[in-house]
Amino acid sequence: RIGFSKNVSYSRVLLAESFNRLLTTQTERKLEGKVALITAAASGIGKATATKFIKNGAKVVIADIQKQLGQETAKELGPNATFIKCDVTEESDVSNAVDFTISKHNQLDIMYNNAGVACNTPVSIVDLDLGVFDRVMNINVRGVVAGIKHASRVMIPRRSGSILCTASVTGLMGGMAQHTYSVSKFAVIGIVKSLAAELCNNGIRINCISPFAIPTPFVIEEMNRLFPHLDAQQLAQMVHSTGVLKGAHCEPDDIANAAVYLASDDAKYVSGHNLVVDGGFTSFKRLGFPAPDQVN
Ligand code: NAD
Repeated sequence: RIGFSKNVSYSRVLLAESFNRLLTTQTERKLEGKVALITAAASGIGKATATKFIKNGAKVVIADIQKQLGQETAKELGPNATFIKCDVTEESDVSNAVDFTISKHNQLDIMYNNAGVACNTPVSIVDLDLGVFDRVMNINVRGVVAGIKHASRVMIPRRSGSILCTASVTGLMGGMAQHTYSVSKFAVIGIVKSLAAELCNNGIRINCISPFAIPTPFVIEEMNRLFPHLDAQQLAQMVHSTGVLKGAHCEPDDIANAAVYLASDDAKYVSGHNLVVDGGFTSFKRLGFPAPDQVN
């Protein structure tokens, strides 16, 4: 009897292990056989997303304005990553990146328009430099539209595809960033809603993700201008301290996980959506009272 029950428990362990293995394989390969093009993927959110996409079975083309960093990132991510230099303000670069993806992999299933920049220190509307406004809009808004246009050019004939864009919590509420940046992200959310209305007729889904603040290079650079006496670690801490969800920080991987979901068949009926990844920040108004557990 003892031998029998030992055998039974051994088989149970084996069964549980293979079930776990099956679950892990399934959860890790949500994008098997898919091809993705991600702009601004040499660094930060784009790089984290490229990494997760590849883990989930996708082939990824990294499109970024930084040639050396982009090539290094592609090398680091292995044979399923390729780099192409692309400045999203040049429509021909965006068009070439799409054509390059098709010539290399014969398909484009996921287009992630992730490129975006900030714009120096906050200024009053009265002092706004419209040259800076145009430059930021050119990258954050026109660059996104160019990506959607050229991805749609190849996705519409196939009547399938998933398009993603990076918006921001600053596109949901005023007062969280410089006007120019905030306005550009409000526009991204609007673009997604407008385009969803057309693309649904062709079986193409389009969604955006609105991340909370994450200390990626462009944010640290921006913060450094405001607080030049603090080092990168202190600045990162300061960025994290603005979050409201206790016990967690917003990280590039959180956005990458959201992107995997939206790009995959798990989200097969989700379109025109803005997936906010902010730990609840934009869902309530803080009154400034101390938390009850902090009052003696
Ligand atoms: P990052 O600094 O890590 O990466 C930005 C990347 O964009 C760099 O690799 C850079 O080379 C590339 N880039 C800049 N201009 C480009 C252009 N014209 N064409 C192509 N590539 C270009 O920053 P990140 O935080 O990963 O930013 C990615 C996106 O996330 C941006 O759209 C940003 O607005 C958005 N976002 C970031 C945060 C945050 O707090 N980090 C929050 C909300 C939204």
